[in-house]
Amino acid sequence: MTPLSSLSELLAALAQGKATAQSLVACAHARAKALQPTLNAFISLAEPEQSAAAARRADQRRAHGVEAPLLGIPIAHKDLFVTTDLPTTAASRMLLGYRSPFDATVVERLAAAGAIAIGKTNLDEFAMGSGNEHSFFGPARNPWDPTRVPGGSSGGSAAAVAAAIVPAATGTDTGGSVRQPAAHCGITGLKPTYGRVSRYGIIAYASSLDQAGLFARSAWDIALLLRQIAGHDPRDSTSVDCPVPDYPAILATLPPPRDRPLVGWRIGIVPSFLAADGVQSDILAALEAARRTYEQLGAAIVECTLPAAELAIPAYYIIAPAEASSNLARYDGVRYGHRTERYDDLFAMYCQSRAEGFGWEVKRRILIGTFVLSHGYYDAYYRKAQQVRRLVTDGYRSALEQCDLLLTPVTATTAWPIGAKANPVEEYLADLFTIGPSLAGLPALAHPIGFDAAGLPIGAQIIGRPFDEARLLAAAHIYQQATDWHRALPPLAHL
Ligand code: GLN
Repeated sequence: MTPLSSLSELLAALAQGKATAQSLVACAHARAKALQPTLNAFISLAEPEQSAAAARRADQRRAHGVEAPLLGIPIAHKDLFVTTDLPTTAASRMLLGYRSPFDATVVERLAAAGAIAIGKTNLDEFAMGSGNEHSFFGPARNPWDPTRVPGGSSGGSAAAVAAAIVPAATGTDTGGSVRQPAAHCGITGLKPTYGRVSRYGIIAYASSLDQAGLFARSAWDIALLLRQIAGHDPRDSTSVDCPVPDYPAILATLPPPRDRPLVGWRIGIVPSFLAADGVQSDILAALEAARRTYEQLGAAIVECTLPAAELAIPAYYIIAPAEASSNLARYDGVRYGHRTERYDDLFAMYCQSRAEGFGWEVKRRILIGTFVLSHGYYDAYYRKAQQVRRLVTDGYRSALEQCDLLLTPVTATTAWPIGAKANPVEEYLADLFTIGPSLAGLPALAHPIGFDAAGLPIGAQIIGRPFDEARLLAAAHIYQQATDWHRALPPLAHL
């Protein structure tokens, strides 16, 4: 088995005795190290002996007939999930040296399923960004072209999966942070419904939007992972207590592509999205081809309108900073976070610690958020944004009454050169297609559908009804059985 194999191929190899956890974990480690100067995908790596010992235990358990679903599979976690055995930084100077006394629920559940975390991946500081350029540790880079962004904020996780360092990784998605990097790196990424997966132990950015997500090389692999992490957690009051379907079992019973398994499904397209300013022509062409493929697989295409969709970005960039300004108030240099060395009094200590600890983008969000919540401005900004959020949500809900899924672009452009976005608003506009489903709390999946003229990956987004992840995974799985885009690997993955 080569490192180029997918999660399910590696599981099969382990089950057939063709690979050992020890060999897979050693290989993942070696690749992570070798590619670090090129990709900067990791913020920390586990000690090789520590991972090797975990892999040895996994091999022993397998030899004793233990059947954990992900036993011996190397994975990586976005460095926004707290972990006891590795530091957690949120890519911020603020949290340098922080070690959590507990594991995030997602981390715990994947470990319980037998996965072995080899490291923590790079991200935009506190998950604020669309390109992974705002990391205290420097930008992560795109495996298809390391002069370009991998997408953000979960850029390191996407780069690590695309470069075949690990077959799967965790991410978080507040306004697109799983879907955008998945699209820019040519892999599959899922943002589940708000409430589907526990957020316990994910460092909070915007609590009404944050959700855990997953990266892998196919919808099938995501189904295997989601089965493990989804479900109620008493430690997260926003996690919903509803049954978790057996996603892999559902996918396993789908008819093959030649039987047109999507007959009876209605897939909605949104003409106003396709006519939006600045959408790259090869993205439109790839999306049109994907639409035809879905049609050939049996789906009926319906045109939908999404009223107020163009207001999603302004509403999000009020709500998310407002919540961030409140969530990040805890980093005061006393209970949490970096503490300045020089100060005269307590107030100066707070100010100086925060001035030193946070990067520019985080400071910008805190300032905006504090402003929109302040007395006299609350009604004009925050309340208004909440009203717009309701309109956006209603638009998606009624569109999803006319169809089972919506098919849209993930991004308006393919991965941009690092440093190319001249001002913050340009970067915020990159979230055009991903923010709506976040405001509405809907599940959305990004999967590869082609390449642009420069050879950079293009993704499609499919958006579903609340808690209907099974349908998203099924659609993407059927598409992936009929096409090969998800199998493409960047040349650097063969190193
Ligand atoms: N780009 C968006 C932001 O900066 C979304 C980031 C995310 O999903 N964490 O807020």
